[in-house]
Amino acid sequence: MASVILRNVWKKFGQVIAVRDFNLEIKDGEFIVLVGPSGCGKTTTLRMVAGLEDITQGEIYIGDRLVNDVPPKDRDIAMVFQNYALYPHMNVYDNMAFGLKMRKVPKQEIKRRVEEAAKLLGIEHLLTRKPKELSGGQRQRVALGRAIVREPKVFLMDEPLSNLDAKLRVQMRAELTKLQQKLGVTTIYVTHDQVEAMTMGHRIVVMRDGIIQQIDTPLGLYERPANLFVAGFIGSPPMNFLPVMLEEEQGVLRVKGEGFSFPLAEDMGRRLKAPRKEVVLGLRPEDITVEHRLREAHPEWVYRVKVEVVEPLGAEGLVYFSLGGQQVVARLSGSSLPKVGEEVALVFNLNRAHFFDKESGKAVA
Ligand code: ATP
Repeated sequence: MASVILRNVWKKFGQVIAVRDFNLEIKDGEFIVLVGPSGCGKTTTLRMVAGLEDITQGEIYIGDRLVNDVPPKDRDIAMVFQNYALYPHMNVYDNMAFGLKMRKVPKQEIKRRVEEAAKLLGIEHLLTRKPKELSGGQRQRVALGRAIVREPKVFLMDEPLSNLDAKLRVQMRAELTKLQQKLGVTTIYVTHDQVEAMTMGHRIVVMRDGIIQQIDTPLGLYERPANLFVAGFIGSPPMNFLPVMLEEEQGVLRVKGEGFSFPLAEDMGRRLKAPRKEVVLGLRPEDITVEHRLREAHPEWVYRVKVEVVEPLGAEGLVYFSLGGQQVVARLSGSSLPKVGEEVALVFNLNRAHFFDKESGKAVA
């Protein structure tokens, strides 16, 4: 097992800068997820760690070894791809054993490792089958098995679940997390799916246009997004954003938007002590509620809205309405959902509000 360090890593493809000054220290045994929209440089970063892509500038260490010039086969890594890449003419056992045979690992040792991995993945009964005789989930397990038998220092996974149907994805997500915990192998996992990132990673690296936006734990990203991009990317449905003015009136800092004006609690006002006049207010759907306790504590945050759309989801529901010409969504308990057209009094929990600089998008509180 090993730590992985990327130091000032750049990748240029001609004029295109795919990865820009990437810095990350991954701890031994850590599960790191790289997440971001298509084209943000996730795969390129993973391929540089694997040695499948040259580094334009910077350093990559696996353990304490600088691997910039080490070929992929000598990096002690194992990759799992989206399209499994199983050999169709070989059975499951031979697919899993192939890499070890190439490395001239003794037969008995190969047998031991394949059987052990097969047991771990619950595919012992499939060892004599060909890939075409397997389901998508079983193929994915074989691909994982092939990586596990290598006993690598690092697993590199590029959207390994994206070919599975929604239900199986959720199931395999949990299985993979458990497996990583059990094996304790340092893992770098690429996905564009923020739910996958949030549920699997110890820490998450959010990327955009080749640039790291934020590195944090799932909860850290959710509670303290560094900028508008991260705030909008993490969370479903996304955080509501409203352009507002911050204005002090009689010693109280107020948030004013089109048709509303809310006072901020004292400590929030203090945190924003250098108020920028025009900012973007960010409020998560669950922080707009009908909760009684909050309503009683903060009657000044209650606002009457006309419900435009209701999406019941069972235990909870999404309620859409307009505020100052913007669409806003609240997440309410499924048992207290209003009807379309109804007027409801919602509480805006401004203790949980985020504020972002209008120009740079950076969080200001
Ligand atoms: P996706 O989720 O769509 O796979 P990604 O975040 O993994 O996207 P990359 O595949 O790393 O993104 O691509 C990052 C940028 O580098 C993109 O602009 C892409 O077009 C560019 N790029 C990637 N590979 C090459 C290449 N071989 N030649 C030229 N440009 C490339």
